[in-house]
Amino acid sequence: MRVHITLECTECHERTYLSSKNKRNNPDRVELNKFCPRDRKVTLHRETK
Ligand SMILES: [Zn+2]
Repeated sequence: MRVHITLECTECHERTYLSSKNKRNNPDRVELNKFCPRDRKVTLHRETK
């Protein structure tokens, strides 16, 4: 049930992280606070398709 996703920074739109999620636990887009090297701070990252 695990699918691969890309996490995109909501501030600079850099696709920084490759991740995976459990489709059963997170059927919708996941949003995570992650460190963005481009912004050099923690920003909200959202799943892209
Ligand atoms: Zn960023």
